[in-house]
Amino acid sequence: MFYEKLTRIYHETECDKYFSESILKSFDKFVRKSVLERNKYINPYRFARQVELPIEDSIRFLMYFTNDNGILNIFMFFECSTSTCVSTRIFFNMEYKDEIIACDECGKEYVFEDIIDFTKVYFQIKPDLHVPPPEEEFISHDRNSTIEILRRLPDNLKNASPPSFSSSNKSIDEGGIEVAISTKLVINQNTHDNRPINQKFPSPFQRLSNRLVGRGKI
Ligand SMILES: [Zn+2]
Repeated sequence: MFYEKLTRIYHETECDKYFSESILKSFDKFVRKSVLERNKYINPYRFARQVELPIEDSIRFLMYFTNDNGILNIFMFFECSTSTCVSTRIFFNMEYKDEIIACDECGKEYVFEDIIDFTKVYFQIKPDLHVPPPEEEFISHDRNSTIEILRRLPDNLKNASPPSFSSSNKSIDEGGIEVAISTKLVINQNTHDNRPINQKFPSPFQRLSNRLVGRGKI
């Protein structure tokens, strides 16, 4: 069922025009594995490595699955510059029609175009989505490193900090730096035959037309 859903999106969005079905199959396994590992977010870098695509293409592929009937939510966020703000990440809707984003905590307002270089994007697997576990042979053992560490811990207690702790990237996948992608990189990939893949997300075309409209008003 899940794979059928992916296949439907793959054809409906014309993703099939640019990406092979073997990439779709890898994506199916990748999402199942991510859910099994309780990762909230898709890691586009990890996916790119797995399917041996450049990161740009990996992001463009993911964009096809971010529409309303897709399987991924896309969030933009940035960090408020006010040092007293506790919750550093400000999430905002991708329909940034007024182009002003305010910090809930201090009320400071930002113009999207000014802060775009500092904003980032998360690809979240829709929380209400039913994703079955991966095929048995696909379950990788590298993510069991946490269990490995716990098992080894008594021996390593003498050492202040086992190196395996720093190499475990579980916390990174839970919302750290590696899974967040530069917004500009994502905007530049939101294109399919001279139109945006995701109409609600900024695209090179929209940004250009906004600028032209802005100039027209002056
Ligand atoms: Zn603030």
